[in-house]
Amino acid sequence: MDIKTVGVVGAGQMGNGIAHVFAVAGFDVLMTDISQEALEKAMALIERNLDRQVSREKLSAKDRDAALARIKTTTTLTDLGPSDLIIEAATERETVKQAIFEDLLPHLKPTTILTSNTSSISITRLASRTDRPEKFMGFHFMNPVPVMQLVELIRGIATDDATYQTMIKVVEKLEKTAASAEDFPAFIVNRILMPMINEAVYTLYEGVGNVRSIDESLKLGANHPMGPLELADFIGLDTCLAIMNVLHDGLADTKYRPCPLLTKYVEAGWLGRKTKRGFYDYRGETPVPTR
Ligand code: NAD
Repeated sequence: MDIKTVGVVGAGQMGNGIAHVFAVAGFDVLMTDISQEALEKAMALIERNLDRQVSREKLSAKDRDAALARIKTTTTLTDLGPSDLIIEAATERETVKQAIFEDLLPHLKPTTILTSNTSSISITRLASRTDRPEKFMGFHFMNPVPVMQLVELIRGIATDDATYQTMIKVVEKLEKTAASAEDFPAFIVNRILMPMINEAVYTLYEGVGNVRSIDESLKLGANHPMGPLELADFIGLDTCLAIMNVLHDGLADTKYRPCPLLTKYVEAGWLGRKTKRGFYDYRGETPVPTR
């Protein structure tokens, strides 16, 4: 199937990056969010990120303007009706995602492919609640989307080969690299990454190290470009906690239990960079560890 128009649901950290890369690749993008403010912030960020690409000579000014002109925003979900491909990138909560597909389905063409950027929720289960499980896939981008090369493609139990092949072509058009993962909790990247982040929070919780020593240890001792706590702040602590809960529930193994300290930060609303406070405090000029 030929994909021309892409509907992006959710204009948060991931949604704006997804809209950005699709627009640059020549797709028409319809982006929606329940919050007008989120849409405005997303458009401002996309413009800033495109400008950066222009200043680094990765994009011409003409292509930037053309990409921006391809993105339309709306707070009305059903305006995404003409989309050939839906990419749901709303808050990581199953009931939220389910409700989005439920409300959207009656307005879509029967051929429209449905995808979710979920980090951890069962694709098979999300698909089973739609009218087209054979046209439903996990489409998992990494953060920040314009920079990260990998996309995980996750087939649910019912996903047909035509849908999978179409999505492989879409990834090629984005000039990214697809890794195929089976539909088990958190797929490949987060199955490995999140328990490491959670263990870093336990290391902090048990007083083995402080924020700085834990991050320095992994950067200098394991050659990671970012420390695990810095990375957790970047991803969003609510997202990290949600993924650990999915691993814990889905695999029923206590080794995945979320660290109580991670829960406490989320309860405080200290969700990382997006709320300006997490394992670091970002309100000043340089990030300051909160422990
Ligand atoms: P975010 O909190 O930055 O953004 C979520 C957006 O969804 C918000 O703007 C919110 O207003 C909007 N939203 C909530 N309910 C909605 C609805 N019913 N309709 C439309 N919009 C709605 O979250 P994020 O980090 O962008 O994560 C989005 C998805 O991407 C999640 O499923 C997450 O697991 C996944 N993901 C996140 C990362 C990451 O590093 N943050 C990486 C890969 C995948």
